[in-house]
Amino acid sequence: MDSYAVFGHPINHSRSPFIHQRFAAQTEQALKYRAIEAPLDDFAKTVEAFFQGDGKGANVTVPFKEQAFALCTEVSERASRAGAVNTLVKTANGEIHGDNTDGIGLVTDLLNKQVTLSNSRILLLGAGGAARGVILPLLAQQPASIVISNRTVSKAQALVELFDHSALSASDLTQLDNYQFDLIINATSAGLSGNMPSLSSKCLHDDTVCYDMVYMKGQTPFNQWASQNGVKQCFDGLGMLVEQAAESFFIWRGVKPNTQMILSELRTML
Ligand code: NDP
Repeated sequence: MDSYAVFGHPINHSRSPFIHQRFAAQTEQALKYRAIEAPLDDFAKTVEAFFQGDGKGANVTVPFKEQAFALCTEVSERASRAGAVNTLVKTANGEIHGDNTDGIGLVTDLLNKQVTLSNSRILLLGAGGAARGVILPLLAQQPASIVISNRTVSKAQALVELFDHSALSASDLTQLDNYQFDLIINATSAGLSGNMPSLSSKCLHDDTVCYDMVYMKGQTPFNQWASQNGVKQCFDGLGMLVEQAAESFFIWRGVKPNTQMILSELRTML
């Protein structure tokens, strides 16, 4: 039976084994999928051993996505621009190819939720790995603009320089008062510690949609703030998690699983 895994540290919280086992059952694919905790100083060797055995493909999560990028023989354009890999594939000649499905996972989830991206004014909060990974797939939807804003503004400016696209600009969080956005994506990890970036409610209009990449039981701090300020549509990142997994599954197996049933199941498990 073909073997797949997710590598991370820590990894016992990972929902990926549950998601991929459900995908496999639903699409009648015979495969195994497990979580492997790689030592912090030995990621590459752990992955190599997996692929020298029966490993056919893998996901990679925190904190190894950049190291995964470095060990690939070849990477996709979207992984190259993200500077990080979350999906590994062993090719027929034994090489390891890398891809990044986080960005397409976000875009698919937003489109599933009928959020308009084309011609939209988007505010992207954060300038870490997650923000970097979604810029190219968001630009592919031809938004009117994407303003990147981050607590450390120099990192937002560095992303704008890296992607070098006319729709992109960087702004200090404190200087957003004069702009209103159609979609605000929180790609910071602030929610994990019960916080949110300090953002003015002047950025909101009557139909602004808010999306937090963080997910948890109940509303995230960012979505609480949005709701309290009248935002009617607030989403968390659970759908992104399932959609990035579905894209990895498609890369490995050539079939697209149905994501909506699994999403509902996962929601009840939070
Ligand atoms: P990084 O550590 O690379 O970046 C963290 C970002 O959050 C930085 O921009 C940092 O700002 C900002 N930040 C952290 N704390 C605060 C705070 N208190 N106030 C304001 N800004 C803050 O993380 P990633 O980019 O890899 O991940 C970001 C989040 O996205 C994580 O919570 C992760 O769980 C989530 N994620 C969700 C996915 C999904 O499928 N749903 C997929 C990938 C990520 P600064 O630069 O100033 O430090």
